[in-house]
Amino acid sequence: MAARRIIGVDLGGTKLLAGAVDPALGVHHRAQRTVTGLDQRTLLDVIVDAVQEIRESTGSEIEAVGFGIPVLMDHRTGRAVVGVHTPLAELAFPDVMAERLGLPVFVDNDGNTSAMAEHLAGAAQGYSEAIVLTLGTGIAGGLIIRDELYRGALGTAGEIGHVTIDYDGPWCQGNCRSRGCAEMFSSGSALAREARLLASVRPDSALAAAVRDGRELIGPFVTELAHDGDAAAIEAIALIGSRLGITIANLVNIFNPQIVVIGGGVIAAGELLLGPARASATSRLLPFLADHLSIVPARFGVEAGMVGAAALAYDQLARAATA
Ligand SMILES: [Zn+2]
Repeated sequence: MAARRIIGVDLGGTKLLAGAVDPALGVHHRAQRTVTGLDQRTLLDVIVDAVQEIRESTGSEIEAVGFGIPVLMDHRTGRAVVGVHTPLAELAFPDVMAERLGLPVFVDNDGNTSAMAEHLAGAAQGYSEAIVLTLGTGIAGGLIIRDELYRGALGTAGEIGHVTIDYDGPWCQGNCRSRGCAEMFSSGSALAREARLLASVRPDSALAAAVRDGRELIGPFVTELAHDGDAAAIEAIALIGSRLGITIANLVNIFNPQIVVIGGGVIAAGELLLGPARASATSRLLPFLADHLSIVPARFGVEAGMVGAAALAYDQLARAATA
């Protein structure tokens, strides 16, 4: 019998990751695309192309495709109602994709799929209450409550990136109408912004030298400079880490999780990010809460959204089979 496979697709604000995932959540074939600034029609073509590439490279029968996309999903209708970082609003995305791919399609918010992967087989496995934060272009969030993904009344719960941490702060990105949102302070975009600011006031730093060489200070490059020991790059990561701790403290006060898992591109910074995040969260939490909390990196790293999208599809197929 051919091995079972489901294709998981994680669509972010800047890139798409797709992979053939087995029932034990092992990843077999991968495809990646850049999606920055694409219009809706081109974006849909790029998604279909990436899925077809995986279908052709895996010898297995593909049962379904699971998607994690950065939108508010209305679970009553399956429609993407707001796309903060992608042009998918007001699109019946699952129907459109099912028709173009000729396969069953399951869709959820990317923060939810990441949380699902980490809870089923990653850093949050075995914890009944967990919060998973994915730091990328923005901040995606997923809440595990009583061992289940919590979706809220309409399916949009877990928009942790848009929790206000500075009521007077900078205006948020995309379609968000608020200001001082968590993702303005602790996302990959925020890291790039802080690195540019620090480069301008630390002329002797590697950050400043990189700017003089015409390099763009994107998150992964800043992280690389920090791992190489540049004090200014380390400071930029520590800054967004300590601000992340504020968001974590707010969440822990509300939900009392056993564990907070941090994933997404920014977690490549590892302890340079998590150390300041723990210190800041601990300093704000009541002592009892701080003593019973772990803040750890995601096991699936940048692949959590993709693996979780496949996990979502396996879960939905199993529920349909027993219904
Ligand atoms: Zn916002």
